[in-house]
Amino acid sequence: MSDVHTVTIVPECEIAGLMTAEAAFDAVEAIFAAMARGSAYNFPVVREAIGHADALYGFKSGFDRESLALGLKSGGYWPGNADKGLTNHQSTVVLFDADTGRPSALVGGNLLTALRTAASSAVSIKHLARKKAKVLGMVGAGHQSAFQIRAAVRQRDFDKIIGWNLHPEMLSRLEETATELGLPFEAVDLDQLGAEADVIITITSSFDPILMDEHIRPGTHLACMGTDTVGKQEVDPKILARAKVYTDEVAQSVTLGEAQHAVGSGLILESAIGQIGAVINGTDPGRTGDDQITLFDGTGVGLQDLAVAAKVVDLAKEKGVAQSVAF
Ligand code: NAD
Repeated sequence: MSDVHTVTIVPECEIAGLMTAEAAFDAVEAIFAAMARGSAYNFPVVREAIGHADALYGFKSGFDRESLALGLKSGGYWPGNADKGLTNHQSTVVLFDADTGRPSALVGGNLLTALRTAASSAVSIKHLARKKAKVLGMVGAGHQSAFQIRAAVRQRDFDKIIGWNLHPEMLSRLEETATELGLPFEAVDLDQLGAEADVIITITSSFDPILMDEHIRPGTHLACMGTDTVGKQEVDPKILARAKVYTDEVAQSVTLGEAQHAVGSGLILESAIGQIGAVINGTDPGRTGDDQITLFDGTGVGLQDLAVAAKVVDLAKEKGVAQSVAF
């Protein structure tokens, strides 16, 4: 047997022309379902300050026994990159052949990270928000926020987007995205946001609660997406005590996700947190009433990265833009 092994390369600049929000949604929904079936699992996350360029560098990795996606996303945060005209968040996905351990693909991970994160909250909206949700509330107006909006509006018939951000000058991003989607946008205070929004996405780098218990009315679905590190926090832990709480990965939720605070302070038990994949699979009923508050703690798992990267490799091969190198 000839041993000319090739690795497929899909560079960052090709991803926008290949991957869609729809394909990311399907890949993420499928991997969450596989995680809840116990056939796909994430390995512990490594994230270290490397003591150079103020950078945080790490790995997220996992394996899906069903699709045989095996690999890792590696990268992190380089705060000085903006001055060089580069994205501060940098990531690359490496996929391996699960039968031999040989590398199979090298895929740009920057745009894919935004698409898979937006797909995650969109999956939670599909499965947990009230069917008649009409107003989407955004807390946060950074890089991820536009992707979040574009993915969310595919799940419900929203007729308005409202938003709040600590730095109001950034709200134009939300307005421009709403306009692109043909929806009205209004900048609001947090009282109005909680009173009007049926679905709220939080996507900030806050280390203190922004939304308080009194802001949230019955029936709201919250997708808390910004808290992905020990110490970060976006909402009052009392909201989690009132809500049905779901997550992508319970182990991450209680250590580095939004639930770290509610569990750490004894307001909720780890055992009260459900897996979104169980709702997808129909083994957990999810929302059972229009007055329930549901909260999705989207921590971001390596398997999401592998799922979207595997999809983009397939698309690159189909469209003839995959570059293969002997390895
Ligand atoms: P960004 O730097 O572009 O924007 C940051 C946002 O947070 C802005 O809206 C900013 O106004 C707001 N903000 C900053 N400091 C704040 C504070 N102290 N209080 C309240 N708001 C504050 O970042 P981004 O790329 O949009 O990412 C937003 C967050 O999402 C980050 O915390 C990032 O780590 C997280 N994230 C999570 C996942 C996941 O899978 N869950 C994936 C990617 C990014």
